Amino acid sequence: MRDDLIRKVVIVGGGTAGWMAAAAMSRIIGGMPGLSIELVESEQIGTVGVGEATIPQLVLFNQLLGIDEDEFIKATHGTYKLGIEFRDWVRIGHRYIHPFGFYGPDMKGIEFYHYWLKGRGLGDATPLDAYSISAMAALSTKMMRPRPDLPNSPVSKIAYAFQFDASLYARFLRTRAEAWGVVRTEGRIVEVAQDAESGFIEAVLLEDGRRIEGDLFIDCSGFRGLLIEQTLRSGFEDWSKWLPNDRAIAIPTESSGDETPLTRATARPAGWQWRIPLQHRVGNGHVYSSAHMSDEDALDLLLANLDGAPLADPNRLRFKAGYRRQAWVKNVVALGLAGGFLEPLESTSIHLVQSGIARLMTLFPSRRWNDAEIRRYNERTIREYEDIRDFLVLHYLATQRDDTPYWDYCRNIDPPPGLAEKLEMFRSNGRVFREHEELFTETSWQAVLIGQEIEAGGYHPVADLLSDEETLTRLRHIREVIADTVRQLPTQREFLRMNNSAS
Ligand code: FAD
Repeated sequence: MRDDLIRKVVIVGGGTAGWMAAAAMSRIIGGMPGLSIELVESEQIGTVGVGEATIPQLVLFNQLLGIDEDEFIKATHGTYKLGIEFRDWVRIGHRYIHPFGFYGPDMKGIEFYHYWLKGRGLGDATPLDAYSISAMAALSTKMMRPRPDLPNSPVSKIAYAFQFDASLYARFLRTRAEAWGVVRTEGRIVEVAQDAESGFIEAVLLEDGRRIEGDLFIDCSGFRGLLIEQTLRSGFEDWSKWLPNDRAIAIPTESSGDETPLTRATARPAGWQWRIPLQHRVGNGHVYSSAHMSDEDALDLLLANLDGAPLADPNRLRFKAGYRRQAWVKNVVALGLAGGFLEPLESTSIHLVQSGIARLMTLFPSRRWNDAEIRRYNERTIREYEDIRDFLVLHYLATQRDDTPYWDYCRNIDPPPGLAEKLEMFRSNGRVFREHEELFTETSWQAVLIGQEIEAGGYHPVADLLSDEETLTRLRHIREVIADTVRQLPTQREFLRMNNSAS
């Protein structure tokens, strides 16, 4: 057996990030000879207490852990989600959907939306949503999982994610992680011991004097970044100039009975409001820029725009958009809020935990610590954050709103270089490319570029291999098939009941 293997992993923090890491690591590498995993958390400190909307990749994470999806939905009071609805982002009264999955079928080797662009030029004003099974199902509050057994049906490609109570998810994962051998320790960390020469973390010390030693530490301590920042001073890259929102207020409300499988993001005078329907309640929150709105006004605005009675006091949160310059320093890897934060406009935070875990599993170290591998981990992490940042910034700068100083600021944001290039390509020729392994696919970029009313300068010339008449006929046929399929699907509530996942 190798004599340089990691013998002990210590996870600091038991929020969603900590328990996702504990469950995944115990499931994937828990059987490594001599390896033990311990998670330290403090009930006294608690967790951030928000985080409800996700993206489809979480389906794969759960599958990797062997989780029964219906059991998981029931335990977390979850609902299905088929996309995000953006209201008032372009101008007040405007709306569009960023659906999961695809638009239409690929035709003659090019993406469907080129035919849609061509059709629009021919006078067909049908919105792009009409060609997305996810968008159309969501608008009718319908739900279905993909049916690969029906390869010719649009449902074969339907993509979905979940809306759930992230604290319940953490609890759900805890049960599994503990069954797979993770030891949970309750206690408040008050000191961190480092090797005097290398600066590597040797142990964390608890308030009651206990000392927990480890070889590899996963910092899931939330915004404070107990190890990665407070101890190892990774540094923080501040992206406030691109994403100026720095506060949020969250308030759950009674269920209104509307279980539309969509997360809603409604633009407000100095930020935006989320609405996330779960089975037992609705999650609501107002994300805003403190430079443009007072906390008092932000709360009043949120309270005035709730569609049910509040179930709890407002949870106020402060943050800064950006990331730790190095997510991995010495023997510490930061996951979750300890690693960085991008506002929940596209529900990406829980995914960032998932992808961080996946990267760590690929590059799982030995005690010989390889600098090139650590560099690679950090470069990939930064790139992932930058890609998501660019996608978020698009929603703000592509607005036509000029009703408040906040929207004036947003409209005039200088795009980061990657986004500037994407905008130029789309404006000049209607082209959209997914760069390297970026999270958001061409469909997502198309949805938001077109949804935000950025004008495509043209469409792919291959679309002209179909005559104008044939193009319009095909478009009509595709949307009719989708509409007809949606009519036959069960509602979200019926689907939950069918699968015994109604809570
Ligand atoms: P936390 O939940 O803060 O957990 C930190 C843990 O560290 C706790 O267990 C705490 O006890 C422990 N800890 C800290 N210090 C110590 C100490 N000294 N000793 C012992 N233990 C300690 N994500 C999404 O994917 N979708 C969303 O819709 C979404 N919405 C969000 C809305 C807002 C306003 C915010 C701020 C975040 C949102 N997120 C969302 C992000 C999501 O909430 C987090 O990514 C997720 O909950 C993970 O949090 P965490 O585990 O990193 O941190």
